[in-house]
Amino acid sequence: MQLRYSFRLYPSAGQRMALARAFGCARVVFNDALRARETARSAGLPFIPSRELSKQLTTSKKTPERAWLTEVSSVVLQQSLRDLDTAYKNFFDSLKGKRPKMGPPRFKSRKDTRQSVRFTANAGWKVTPGGKLRLPKIGDVPVRWSRTLPSASSTVTVIKDSAGRHFASFVVETDPETLPATDSAVGIDLGLTHFAILSDGTKISSPRFLRRAEKNFRKAQRDLSRKAKGSSNRAKARIKVARAHARTADARREFHHQLSTKLIRDNQAVAVEDLAVKGLARTRMAKSVHDAGWSAFTTMLEYKAAKYGRTLIRIGRFEPTSQVCSQCGVKDGPKPLHIRTWTCGACGAVLDRDINAAVNIAKAAGLAVSACGARVRPGLVPAQREETGTHPKPQPVTTGRQAGISVF
Ligand SMILES: [Zn+2]
Repeated sequence: MQLRYSFRLYPSAGQRMALARAFGCARVVFNDALRARETARSAGLPFIPSRELSKQLTTSKKTPERAWLTEVSSVVLQQSLRDLDTAYKNFFDSLKGKRPKMGPPRFKSRKDTRQSVRFTANAGWKVTPGGKLRLPKIGDVPVRWSRTLPSASSTVTVIKDSAGRHFASFVVETDPETLPATDSAVGIDLGLTHFAILSDGTKISSPRFLRRAEKNFRKAQRDLSRKAKGSSNRAKARIKVARAHARTADARREFHHQLSTKLIRDNQAVAVEDLAVKGLARTRMAKSVHDAGWSAFTTMLEYKAAKYGRTLIRIGRFEPTSQVCSQCGVKDGPKPLHIRTWTCGACGAVLDRDINAAVNIAKAAGLAVSACGARVRPGLVPAQREETGTHPKPQPVTTGRQAGISVF
């Protein structure tokens, strides 16, 4: 499977300037090419092929207006054209219904929060014996190697985020490392009162370090809103907000990593509700869903399950998990959100709203768990990816997506 590894870079002032130049040149090349294609389209001319764009780039470098493009690695510029091709391909595929609907490629702006350039093997980048990242026309950039790369990567992407931090990102091929089998399984419900509720009754809240980061972020935002528009204090406050935002995102990612690793290690099978996050975005739940970063979390569960030979099952929202008694299966109708516990009219079980939902999720996934214990009987572990598709409704979807996953 392919995993993405990112490491923080600490470029010097001069290297930061060289990187800024590379981001700028890559952006200009992208925009020039996009403009050429859009102009051709509105003139009713055929789609300009990539090699033609490549030729135009070579020619434009010789003009006085674009001569500065020679100051950066030509590989970076070629990769920028490649990115445009990918954006077009994704757009055309979406028109054909091969992937979710998306818009045509858009012009890049210097104000975009994320800037990036990519160096392939052709660019001649390398890691020096001293552990620095040698980038052509930029120099040897210090790296904080927070973990070891499992295998070599041919390509490195250098990213600058909204907080002005630089990262080197590598995509590497890794082998799955199967963990010893266990007979535990768990269903997880996204709680409104807690980040997650497990079918064994565990309620998990965000850790203090995340809550503190979120508090600082909100304070920075408040401070920003008080500053006069266009003032230099406002500009400073905006950088503070971006930094606090980045720190919150890091803290949240760290929490997601810790929790997802634990859940995957402790359980053979994990069932989650496949929340239609986009649908929820229009409801009152929107804020809590987005803040909780549920979809980022389930993505982590997904790749870790694939990595460690576990099973992740997503349960579609067919069954109203809070309306069915997890003990006897009787559906006794919707209950207002403020009702946290109730007694089942049919079997007399006392049910906690959130735990009841988590147990129902586990049951819908075919996991044999009880409200206390959450054990799977041997042989009842759900089928691996190849064997799915024969499941009754609600249709579980096991892990599969592998690209675009970040590991810090
Ligand atoms: Zn009941």
